[in-house]
Amino acid sequence: MTTAAGGAEQGSSALAELRRPIAPMTRLGVLLGGIGALTTLAPFVGIAELGRTLLAPGPLDATRVAWTAVVIAVGTVLGWSCTGAALWITHLADGRMQAELRRRLVRKLGEVGLGWYSETNSGRVRKAAQDDVDDLHHLIAHHDVELAGAVVLPLGGLAYLLWVDWRLALLALATLPIYFVAYGFMMRGFADKMREMDSGFARVSAAIAEFVHGIAVVKSFGQTGRAHAGYRRAVDEFGERYAGWVRPVLRLEALTSMALSVPVIALVGVAGGTWFVQRGWVTPIDVLAEVLVAVVLPSTLLTLNQGFTAQRKAVAAAERLSGLLSAPALPVAAEPRSPQGNLVEFDGVEFGYAADEPVLRGVDLTCRPGTVTALVGPSGAGKSTLAKLLPRFYDVTGGAIRLGGVDVREIAPAELYRHVGFVLQDVQLLHGTVADNLRLGRPAATERELVAAAEATRIHERITRLPRGYESVIGEDAVLSGGEAQRVSIARALLADTPVLVLDEATAYADPESEAEIQEALSAVARGRTVLVIAHRLSTITDVDRIVVVDRGRVAEQGTHAELLAADGRYARMWAEHESTTDSTAGAPDGGGAAR
Ligand code: ATP
Repeated sequence: MTTAAGGAEQGSSALAELRRPIAPMTRLGVLLGGIGALTTLAPFVGIAELGRTLLAPGPLDATRVAWTAVVIAVGTVLGWSCTGAALWITHLADGRMQAELRRRLVRKLGEVGLGWYSETNSGRVRKAAQDDVDDLHHLIAHHDVELAGAVVLPLGGLAYLLWVDWRLALLALATLPIYFVAYGFMMRGFADKMREMDSGFARVSAAIAEFVHGIAVVKSFGQTGRAHAGYRRAVDEFGERYAGWVRPVLRLEALTSMALSVPVIALVGVAGGTWFVQRGWVTPIDVLAEVLVAVVLPSTLLTLNQGFTAQRKAVAAAERLSGLLSAPALPVAAEPRSPQGNLVEFDGVEFGYAADEPVLRGVDLTCRPGTVTALVGPSGAGKSTLAKLLPRFYDVTGGAIRLGGVDVREIAPAELYRHVGFVLQDVQLLHGTVADNLRLGRPAATERELVAAAEATRIHERITRLPRGYESVIGEDAVLSGGEAQRVSIARALLADTPVLVLDEATAYADPESEAEIQEALSAVARGRTVLVIAHRLSTITDVDRIVVVDRGRVAEQGTHAELLAADGRYARMWAEHESTTDSTAGAPDGGGAAR
């Protein structure tokens, strides 16, 4: 189990690793930021010194006045320039780091196996590219420079006051203990409270998700009030706890804000300073210097606080990013080989998602070019898994899969995908035009080829009915049904023209018309290729070259429809069951042999 401390440690070292290449630039930025902050003291100190010169008894020392004015002006300009230069350098450093980070992420995304792209991992990539890189930006481009200023500015101011009179330095810090005591009190048990708040918030989120997801069901059963109740309870509970914690904290915060406000600090400075003057310790001008310096100090505390928050967020972001960057890459052969032909052989294939739970146990199967092989079997038998191993979504844990006589692990990924195309259960259409989606596998496809593929897969006519035809944008003016989206993805596979095709759940959309059209689409794709299709409705695959019954990760039976019926085994039982359900479903489609 990873403890919070362990996680933070990992995050810190991940952050240090990400920052290493830009460390010299960051150091320069911090140095310039520090100088910039120090020089912003020049006007305050200068004004006090100017006052001292102007109010000094005897004739006015004009040269000293002029010099002080020059120092104030130069200090101000230098301060701005240094801070500006520092931020410019740190933004440059951040830009470089982000570019490198994005390059590494893109490289990594190209290296991981397709099976890695689960929903969680896709969410992680989205978060990394959007939020995490942004969190690092705040730390690297802003907070380092601001933090340098927040440290240097009060130290410089206090050093000056110490030089004038040490008692003035103490006076400038007089209200700080109130802040620290109150802050310590506010932060007592902070981690526990935050954890409590987080879990309370998670309960509210879960209640919202539950409510929104189930809203249709809840409404249709007329239980809206009851469904609300869970949500309301979670929110009330969260609200009460939050208020119970925050109310006393807010009172304290008001007190600390007052202790650090400019009028209070100025008042304390003037009152204390007047007493110092009476005692003959300092001059009134010294008190002016103290007030000017003391009012600048609190702002640095705020920056320090924000800096720590930014650091915490960046550490967490770096941990997530480095986790992503260390995702296991799909091994690539040092000397790739080219497949000789399109014969597909599964040879004693073993595979499991988890080490101790085998999903496939020694599958032997040969798919010849120009034939259609259908995988059938109960849900969870391992059909999809078997099909996904061919395009290397995952690598086998035992045995081998060969394409054209070469182990798929020895074929360069780009070459493998030129040979093996796939249409999967969850159809993925990208945000872009229908034409862009169709051209994904062959960007150079001509308009005629595009239309030919769409016609063959029975989707052309539907596309022409879209507001902008092939130029309609998916999700905007091209809103397609599941079956239609699937036909677009089959057309895409047809256009990509890979000699081997894996079609998973091609018949998932079971409305009769859509299914018949999908089957026609598949017939077009199947011609002359090596096709492996996962079928759910037995009626659609009766004419295929070979039917393979998969059960609990093994090939239970294989042969043609007629052979398997004659064998009177598992397939025959499945067929009988299928026939009885089709008989009882009046008008159910039973096209037959469409996958050819
Ligand atoms: P169905 O017909 O319902 O799609 P299937 O025969 O295609 O089933 P698979 O999807 O290959 O079966 O699943 C085989 C087993 O592997 C199941 O127990 C499933 O829970 C498990 N499984 C599938 N995908 C994953 C995954 N990404 N991670 C972990 N386990 C998985």
